[in-house]
Amino acid sequence: MPVESVFARLEPLLPRVQKPIQYVGGELHSVVKDWDDPAGMGTPAGSEPVRWALMYPDAYEVGLPNQGVQILYELLNERDDVIAERTYSVWPDMEAVMREHGIPQFTVDGHRPVGAFDVFGVSFSTELGYTNLLTALDLAGIPLDAADRTDGHPIVVAGGHAAFNPEPIATFIDAAVLGDGEEAALRLTDIVRDWKRAGRPDGRDGLLMRLAVDGVAYVPAFYDVDYLADGRIQRVTPNRPGVPWRVSKHTVMDLDQWPYPKKPLVPLAETVHERYSVEIFRGCTRGCRFCQAGMITRPVRERSITTVGDMVQRGIAATGFEEVGLLSLSSADHSEIGEIAKGLADRYDGDNVSLSLPSTRVDAFNITLANELSRNGRRTGLTFAPEGGSERMRKVINKMVTEDDLIRTVATAYGNGWRQVKLYFMCGLPTETDDDVMQIADMARRVIKTGREAAGRKDIRCTISIGAFVPKPHTPFQWAAQLDHETVDKRLKALKSAVMNDRDYGRAIGIRYHDGRPSIVEGLLSRGDRRVGAVIRRVWEDGGRFDGWSEHFSYERWERCAAGVFADTPVSLDWFTTRERDLAEVLPWDHLDSGLDKDWMWADWQDAVREVEVDDCRWTPCYDCGVCPSQGTEIQVGPTGRQLLPLSVV
Ligand code: SF4
Repeated sequence: MPVESVFARLEPLLPRVQKPIQYVGGELHSVVKDWDDPAGMGTPAGSEPVRWALMYPDAYEVGLPNQGVQILYELLNERDDVIAERTYSVWPDMEAVMREHGIPQFTVDGHRPVGAFDVFGVSFSTELGYTNLLTALDLAGIPLDAADRTDGHPIVVAGGHAAFNPEPIATFIDAAVLGDGEEAALRLTDIVRDWKRAGRPDGRDGLLMRLAVDGVAYVPAFYDVDYLADGRIQRVTPNRPGVPWRVSKHTVMDLDQWPYPKKPLVPLAETVHERYSVEIFRGCTRGCRFCQAGMITRPVRERSITTVGDMVQRGIAATGFEEVGLLSLSSADHSEIGEIAKGLADRYDGDNVSLSLPSTRVDAFNITLANELSRNGRRTGLTFAPEGGSERMRKVINKMVTEDDLIRTVATAYGNGWRQVKLYFMCGLPTETDDDVMQIADMARRVIKTGREAAGRKDIRCTISIGAFVPKPHTPFQWAAQLDHETVDKRLKALKSAVMNDRDYGRAIGIRYHDGRPSIVEGLLSRGDRRVGAVIRRVWEDGGRFDGWSEHFSYERWERCAAGVFADTPVSLDWFTTRERDLAEVLPWDHLDSGLDKDWMWADWQDAVREVEVDDCRWTPCYDCGVCPSQGTEIQVGPTGRQLLPLSVV
């Protein structure tokens, strides 16, 4: 049955909302296929397509550049038997207009109702998007509780980093996919297609069973959770025969075979990034103990220099972007980063195409690389992430960078013409004291002092940016107590006044931080279990939306709703956040397998407390974190020895 576009009803209402352009679609490289005949070749009998609505649960300006959604959108639409369209969170003004006029959550491509698709895939980079999921489900006419859904509703699938502990949203989703999405999305599509072609045996339940038994996705409804009287989890057990006890993550092993995005979307409205982004490697084995992204994406898999070069060439030609982002968790660690930067800078010399790296490790930075990166662009600021203010703290978190390394590096940068350096830190790390945080001020002073000497001038700046630490599942800090927000705020205020009152250097140092309260909510949503779902629902019913945006976030609302839901139970907001766990405790995500061996993680947590560091397994023997043998994977690093050739004969 054709599904009608809602655009005719939507268009007259657009003047009533802010930034209406974010709802109209039509971006370069967006795709609108025929609903019944996606290949445009006539539909052979029995070949009903599989239809995906892909969502990034934040505003268009944040969601559009998201790499995960763009890759899946392109990959799925390359198939003739698939339709993939995108949807983003609508702002509260648009939500009100849609409710007033009965307009459902729609895709920005075909403006089709999300409720008409087979699969509603939602990619979570942060847990603070959970209330936005509920808004989208409700606007789409999809029951919030998965148990209330019928065969006519899409299956709701969560992905992204937050899917490694989807328990807080277990009631609202039908399935979660852990790990790399490329192969998994295609596999899931095949299963949906085969189920549809077989006449949808056993309805929705039959499809979810196929997904669970295959192992492509985790289906929370097929697991029972029992609790102890003190509130801890007693056990998590499958409640259907054939459903695996543990569900594993997916790992793509040859990034060169998946050179996406090839034709990234070019937004019509302003977005947070407007550049061609290429992931130069996936995974990180530096072993920073706070870093969930590094832990859950092991092992390191590099994309080859030649594939990176081809992707950039094609991506720039297809989009006209003037910036190339070389992305990864620690881009300067690519075994051929120097050759990549030089090769690309040579290719685009004089073309206004500039290169950028996300934050750089102090120890991986070198001035040749920095010069190549800035050759065709402006010499803007450099960003480093020492994360911990004191040497002791950096040992605890396994960020093997000394203060002397940092000072030497920034002196080189200032001496070579950079005027601005940004430094990222965290506050509230395990074992942290007031003094550890105050040492951030000392470090910033040394940076400016040495920088002035190296640059021979006074007009240099250093900005320190500080976030509150949130312990994350599947990291060695998953057992740690999160620091209460009052202490975080007290330490940050003391740091700020120390910096601002410094007569010699205070004016050259900027300091930025947010208060610690959103991090407590992030902590609840990161390490929570299924009981937290009722809090999310109550917050949403109370008006909670866009919790990642300070102007919309209300700590008071979360605190009040959590107190209401957890009244007369052994658990509380504090219980989920500021409580330290022990090895014997069953963690809500223990049945979800990131490949990391729990004993290794516990030993690494003990090493953290003893301030013992562990090296990167790329350059030292394997230290048995468990990922490679359990997942059948291996570290893939160069160098390949190849070089990027000029684009035209010189
Ligand atoms: S199993 Fe060994 S080589 Fe593989 S990621 Fe873990 S420590 Fe590194």
